[in-house]
Amino acid sequence: MDEMKKLVDLLNDYAYRYYVLDRPVVADAEYDRLYDKLVAMEAETGIVLDDSPTRRVGGAPLSGFQSVKHLGRLYSLDKCQTKEAMKAWLDKLADGDEIPACSIEYKFDGLTINLTYRGGKLVRAATRGDGVNGEDVTAQVKTINCVPLSIDYKGTVEVQGEGIMRLSALASYNSNPDVVPLKNARNAAAGAIRNLDPGETAKRKLEVVCYNVNYIEGARFSGGDEMIDFLKKNRFKVSDYYRLSTSKKEVLQALDEIAAKRDSLDFLIDGAVVKINRYSMREELGYTQKFPRWAVAFKFEAQEATTVVKDVIWQVSRTGKLNPLAVLEPVELAGVTVSRATLSNYNEILRKGIKIGCRVFVRRSNDVIPEITGVAEYLEGNRDVELPTVCPACGSPVERNGAFVLCTNKDNCETALISRFAHFVSRDAMDVEGLSEKTLELLYQEGKIRRFADLYALTKDDLTGIEGFKDKKISNILQAIEKSKDTELGRFLYALGIPNVGKKAAAQIADAFVTLPAAMAATKEQLEAMDDFGEITAGDIVAFWNNPRNVEDVELLLGQGVAIREKSKKEGVFSGKKVVLTGSLKKYPRSKAKELIEERGGEVADSVSKTVNLVVAGEEAGSKLAKAQKAGIEIIDEEEFERRLGL
Ligand code: NAD
Repeated sequence: MDEMKKLVDLLNDYAYRYYVLDRPVVADAEYDRLYDKLVAMEAETGIVLDDSPTRRVGGAPLSGFQSVKHLGRLYSLDKCQTKEAMKAWLDKLADGDEIPACSIEYKFDGLTINLTYRGGKLVRAATRGDGVNGEDVTAQVKTINCVPLSIDYKGTVEVQGEGIMRLSALASYNSNPDVVPLKNARNAAAGAIRNLDPGETAKRKLEVVCYNVNYIEGARFSGGDEMIDFLKKNRFKVSDYYRLSTSKKEVLQALDEIAAKRDSLDFLIDGAVVKINRYSMREELGYTQKFPRWAVAFKFEAQEATTVVKDVIWQVSRTGKLNPLAVLEPVELAGVTVSRATLSNYNEILRKGIKIGCRVFVRRSNDVIPEITGVAEYLEGNRDVELPTVCPACGSPVERNGAFVLCTNKDNCETALISRFAHFVSRDAMDVEGLSEKTLELLYQEGKIRRFADLYALTKDDLTGIEGFKDKKISNILQAIEKSKDTELGRFLYALGIPNVGKKAAAQIADAFVTLPAAMAATKEQLEAMDDFGEITAGDIVAFWNNPRNVEDVELLLGQGVAIREKSKKEGVFSGKKVVLTGSLKKYPRSKAKELIEERGGEVADSVSKTVNLVVAGEEAGSKLAKAQKAGIEIIDEEEFERRLGL
């Protein structure tokens, strides 16, 4: 009992911080875990305390806002976390695969907004509050452009939508160095609407995506689809994803479809909602105290967690920049254990208020490096992150350059130099196979490499005797080094590691200036005139060539026989053709197929568009194939592809 009371108090405290203050101190996944524990405890004991969060929806209204009563009660949603649980929910509707029609929708992660219209005019906008009473946020919501101030329908009607902030709007808001970055789009939207100053709401560029009519005078809908049509006709913004299905299998597939789209959307969704479509059936099933029995939310894996910053260490990059890295108490996040997170620079640490010994929010979406989005709370004994005074790799003094800290010995700092070599030999640069960072480190320690050109002077003798180096390995490395001498301008420029010049920018310079001397002599104005080249990149490139050491590096490399081939326009069976690869080819990995097409004069594009002439479809080809079929583009299989390659 004591334990239950403690849990209820803790959850109520978290809910207060989340719903009322818009300043959560734990991530949703942690709150949900404790909430589920309480649900299990209540089921087991049969006791539900009066103030249990399982009895109620949301949080109390914030003082400062007027409390208003909704015309129809607003509910939360029942949730399930696994496909099995979802299947069990569907199984309750019918045996076999066929079920009464259900809609599958995005579960937007924002804040419920309840809009009241009378006589065709928006008279009130309110938050959900406890489901019966919400806060009057009319002035704030009126600043949101997509909310219609008047509609054609003249009866009294209440429409619910989710107030959201687009991720691009969040990024643009946070890019202002003078603001404290907003932690996530959900809190940002909630904080903007529940802000007494409507001017602040307007600044955050919110949207309200509507999904329900909860109260309507003078009309009746037969199903959810008809209700959505009503919303569209009255010019509300609705989701562009809405599926109706009568098959369990299709419903489950739609969940996968939404999960796959999640990371490419410009807004947060934390799951999908499945709702029975027919209103007569909804009425039959009714509601519990907290949610409708005719709908369920399928929650996705959490992308956010909180954990403690144990330390901040500084790592030297190849350009000599010291990058701060947070060492975290390991935490499970989106299927992996996260124990480190990048912190862009010192100013960012100050702006976000990060200290050693504070609990932070960490966010990770697919394949993206975990990011600390903000502080949840400061723990006892926390301390400021200190700027290093010396380079952690070579011990040389550091210097500040705006937000950055640089090693003053970057040309000779071992760690920076080895990373530069690793970059120089990497696949998209000089492409020397077999030279791992470890090998480069050994070569450095043996004193064999200091300047890039030293690589090309390596002999069998130099490599003999290094730990783990057998004859075969030595001759492979020497051959790979020799082969890399014949290169292209784009690769060569990329390999040099010019600050801010990635693969794409290097290829652009090569295309524009054609020869190495011309590329080296490019002026700031010429560079700035190129697509996606800003003042900073152009300045960095010019500064790079103004450094005599870099020019000398190039001369030494050319002296060792590095030869820059002019990119010749290749001719072949794919000349003048734009080709898209889709599905998996048995014999050719994607990069190899691309190379073979380019060698034969073709160009490979990532997506199907009007300018594409040919699609090579391997096994399990998906939407690109369907799109190509629809557009009437020529499609060939692997066998035909191989025939055309002439292999
Ligand atoms: P919920 O937000 O998970 O689900 C209900 C809400 O979903 C509705 O009110 C509606 O606004 C929204 N929604 C979005 N798309 C919808 C659609 N297509 N159809 C219908 N509704 C849609 O549930 P809840 O009860 O409001 O809040 C619980 C959530 O709040 C949990 O995710 C929980 O983790 C979080 N929470 C977190 C903390 C914390 O401290 N981190 C504290 C309390 C609650």
